[in-house]
Amino acid sequence: MATSKSRARAAASGLRKERAGTPVSDRIRERIKKAGGRFFANDNIAQYLEPGDMDALVDEVEGEFTRVLNALVIDTDNDHNTHDTARRVAKMYLREVFGGRYVPEPRVTEFPNVGRLSELMIVGPVTVRSACSHHLCPIIGRIWVGVMPNEGSALIGLSKYARLVEWMMNRPQIQEEAIARLADLLEDKMQPDGLALVMEADHYCMQWRGVKDMDSKMTNSVMRGAFLRNSSLRREFLALMPGKGK
Ligand SMILES: [Zn+2]
Repeated sequence: MATSKSRARAAASGLRKERAGTPVSDRIRERIKKAGGRFFANDNIAQYLEPGDMDALVDEVEGEFTRVLNALVIDTDNDHNTHDTARRVAKMYLREVFGGRYVPEPRVTEFPNVGRLSELMIVGPVTVRSACSHHLCPIIGRIWVGVMPNEGSALIGLSKYARLVEWMMNRPQIQEEAIARLADLLEDKMQPDGLALVMEADHYCMQWRGVKDMDSKMTNSVMRGAFLRNSSLRREFLALMPGKGK
């Protein structure tokens, strides 16, 4: 027979459930689907978020991650080291390492090319921190950007490259897609004659697990416009990349 105490507890928990209602991720997913949007791991969904959603997402992911830890048979009740791990991981995913999915594109001021620069500019190396979408393991590396501006190009300040790189990389993804999407973003901003990107990165899913090869790095590049057409420009960029080979 239920005591009045246990009845009160059940009622309180039912009330909490009712108040919580639909998980916030369901509501966000509905909005995205309604708008015909996409929510792949490396998509930004900031435009579909409403005030308060991020805090609610942290709570939801914490709850789900607690279940993951339980399923891993880790005693989160008694092991003081893992007691708050679910919440820490939720915050880390949502606000830090996958944060580029949930915040709008950083504001970057573009300057008209008043000096009519039409010489090769190279920026880098810019540090890259990302995660692979297959294992959610870190991808840590460097990226170099080559820009061939024309008179109509917009230029962006040096420090802004790092902000755009960070925003694009703070998502689970694969390196080939990451660099291509970064190229799209930079081309869209600057409208240069040519754009070149080289990314070199350690993939921890190859070092921590799998083949456990500590020395394997993945390097890939994207060449657009003038860098595709003009092989001497391409060679000049590749030869001048500062710090490459270190
Ligand atoms: Zn992986």
